[in-house]
Amino acid sequence: MARTAWMPQNQSMPEQALNEEILWQAVQTRDKAWDGRAVFGVVTTGVYCRLSCPCRTPLRRNVRFFRDPQEAGRAGLRPCLRCRPLASWGVDPDAARIEAVCAFIRANLEDTLTLATLAARAELSPYHFQRAFRAATGVTPRQYVEDCRIARLKEELRQQDSVTDAIYAAGFGSGSRVYERVDSHLGMTPASYRAGGGGVEISWASTACAMGWMMLGATDRGLCFVQFGATETALLDSLRAEFPDARLRPLAQPYPEPFGRWMSALQAHLDGSQPNPRLPLDIRATAFRIRVWTYLQSIPRGGTRSYSQVAAAIGQPAAVRAVASACAANPVALVIPCHRVIRGDGSLGGYRWGLDRKQALLRAESVSGR
Ligand SMILES: [Zn+2]
Repeated sequence: MARTAWMPQNQSMPEQALNEEILWQAVQTRDKAWDGRAVFGVVTTGVYCRLSCPCRTPLRRNVRFFRDPQEAGRAGLRPCLRCRPLASWGVDPDAARIEAVCAFIRANLEDTLTLATLAARAELSPYHFQRAFRAATGVTPRQYVEDCRIARLKEELRQQDSVTDAIYAAGFGSGSRVYERVDSHLGMTPASYRAGGGGVEISWASTACAMGWMMLGATDRGLCFVQFGATETALLDSLRAEFPDARLRPLAQPYPEPFGRWMSALQAHLDGSQPNPRLPLDIRATAFRIRVWTYLQSIPRGGTRSYSQVAAAIGQPAAVRAVASACAANPVALVIPCHRVIRGDGSLGGYRWGLDRKQALLRAESVSGR
């Protein structure tokens, strides 16, 4: 039964007739490069797997190859619980549930959101839910709730007449420790924040990183501003926009402590060498984006990847949507070639600078890139 193997999703590569021998070789070497591109099924067990599945290699005569999980499913096979082949296509059922729970959290911040209620919502055990949540978002459900509440609090402080109302509206409830926690998250009291940083001095410094600029602003209470952008000027504009009435003071190196320590912790975190769960959510999101952007720079001219291939390549196969939003947030077109990321079905997906431009870029590269 000579099945012609399909060609990889890489649309602009010249057509290559790959054969089952190559796929079988990949199974034997557990080649991760095929994750998200093909699966194999074992007729004797009724299970299908990634080519890189760590389970014992089956007998060749029992193996069938499929171009995607859907095809394997139609052949009556079910996904392997160990290598979870669906995740490499970005259709991990857990990821969809987690995304629904995140939306629920953002819409219900004023409620008491316990691990048990959130897990029940996802129809997962609390243990499984906690793990799946971390895998999909990089933070625990509790950190996610708290970070969302801080973001909401910042909005409310600009709108509500009273600080207390804003704190309640953001879901922080009552309690003497609330104010302390909120202060350390904002880098100032809610009242100062509401006053645009009036009466507060913010020391700031910025540094060039691989993908642009990073700026840190801090008061004597803690960090109040961490952002990433294309230029230092743009970042300074954002700092002024968020704290129009604060005194802004540029810091020169060597930075005073603890500012210097924050700066290096942040840099280490962005490098990926030091995961730091206490950093604010937007920073962890930025670190994730930088991982995506760094990977994008490795896609050769003339090549493309699907969003799920990128997610798999950076070791977070469930984070397909986060990959798409990292592409959308790319601050530097062309240098970070996010135009080389397309949908798994070959359609273009989105592009911040316009789909026409994306198509033109890809067309030009597929001609000249060979
Ligand atoms: Zn498997």
